[in-house]
Amino acid sequence: MSKIVAIVGRPNVGKSTFYNRLIGERQAIIDNVSGVTRDRIYGTCEWNGKSFTVVDTGGFVKNSSDVFESAIRSQVQIAIEEAAVIVFITDVTTGITDLDEEVANLLRRANTPIILCVNKVDNHTREISANEFWSLGFEETYFLSSISGSGTGEVLDAITEKLPENEEEEENLIPKFAIIGQPNVGKSSLTNSLLGEERNIVTDIAGTTRDSIHSHYNKFGKEFLLIDTAGIRKKAKVHEDLEFYSVMRAVGAIEESDVCILMVDAQTGIEAQDMNLLGLVHKRRKGLVIVVNKWDLIENKETNTAKEFTEKIKRKISPFKDVPILFVSVLEKQRIFKVVEAALEVNESRNQKIKTSVLNNLLLDEIDRNPPPANRGRIIKIKYVQQLPTKHPAFAFFCNHPKHIKANYKGFLENLMRKHFDFTGTPISIVFKEK
Ligand code: GDP
Ligand code: GDP
Repeated sequence: MSKIVAIVGRPNVGKSTFYNRLIGERQAIIDNVSGVTRDRIYGTCEWNGKSFTVVDTGGFVKNSSDVFESAIRSQVQIAIEEAAVIVFITDVTTGITDLDEEVANLLRRANTPIILCVNKVDNHTREISANEFWSLGFEETYFLSSISGSGTGEVLDAITEKLPENEEEEENLIPKFAIIGQPNVGKSSLTNSLLGEERNIVTDIAGTTRDSIHSHYNKFGKEFLLIDTAGIRKKAKVHEDLEFYSVMRAVGAIEESDVCILMVDAQTGIEAQDMNLLGLVHKRRKGLVIVVNKWDLIENKETNTAKEFTEKIKRKISPFKDVPILFVSVLEKQRIFKVVEAALEVNESRNQKIKTSVLNNLLLDEIDRNPPPANRGRIIKIKYVQQLPTKHPAFAFFCNHPKHIKANYKGFLENLMRKHFDFTGTPISIVFKEK
């Protein structure tokens, strides 16, 4: 099930201020890489042990007044279909406006849980004015000041209460792959050549449902579910708002997937939009395969062309390490099946469970030889390592002073793990626990 929380509302009510509160500073790291501030539209948030993706619809609205009313309406519609929870932000300083009323009307008819936030309630006087917003008729109405942060904790409690539980460890499930990437990179073409033409019919029918479509692939001894993001264009006609809709679908597909297949166009390489998707894939700890498509269009290929391309991508995609990068031509049906094989391999490396004894035998000697640097006179000793029962690979290193280990030591441990085990295409988490 989707774990998208969508923030909707008129311009200037404080959506992005609220969004930034939820995302905290972690988002900034990705933005530095991409250098595109307009793309600060989705990020992950963790609260009460649940993690979810927040989408700020404000990032999509252009600020000329004749466009935005219809744009907001269509975004609200999309949010209703795609999000698990909608946070509707209003502004106490303007009171209830016509557009607020209109958005409220759309939202009241939806089955999606709605949380109404009256923002800019910075002081007691404004708290009294804020009471008029109860008239919009939402049971869950909260007063907050996004600028100071007061009241945001309650809103987060309300959000997480409505979200589905974190995925339980499930055995023997068919792996789910999501093909993501910018428009026109060849996602539909790849989907079609893998699944055959019959899937087009499926897309038409599913075009009106909220859940993404899962196509079952079961040939040549391989089995997986493909989460559809390619049906986007048909539906976008209905919604007019292609970019917002594509992003919502991509975010939803990443959430649901085990492995993401990021397609990029060989002619352009990895761009800022791809970096944003990658950031999300990494934070959600999903597996990754990068597919450089339209390789047929690159002229005068020499032996080193693919290698140089690979190096360039590798430099760009950190903190991802060890990611399979494939050069394909969907048009000429070249190496398409390799994509499937790579995704299955990544899925396997992401699902592996390593016995505690194996971990300790392989790692502890080397850790003893390169212990975490002492901190303020404290000698730090790592005593043993254990894999955690999470869906993606996560390892707890038990030690005497977990809080005093410097962040860069994690990098050392990650490299050590990757040297001894095959974690192709999968992010791993490392935590320090006290023992
Ligand atoms: P958006 O267009 O809905 O994303 O709105 P922004 O987050 O850009 O905020 C619009 C303006 O309202 C900015 O000048 C913010 O600093 C201001 N603002 C946001 N939240 C609050 C708040 O809680 N109190 C006050 N006084 N101002 C706020
Ligand atoms: P999507 O928007 O990502 O689903 O992209 P499409 O699958 O609709 O493809 C966009 C365009 O790129 C179409 O005209 C395809 O025929 C073309 N295309 C897809 N794969 C390749 C390829 O490997 N080589 C070339 N030359 N064109 C391709």
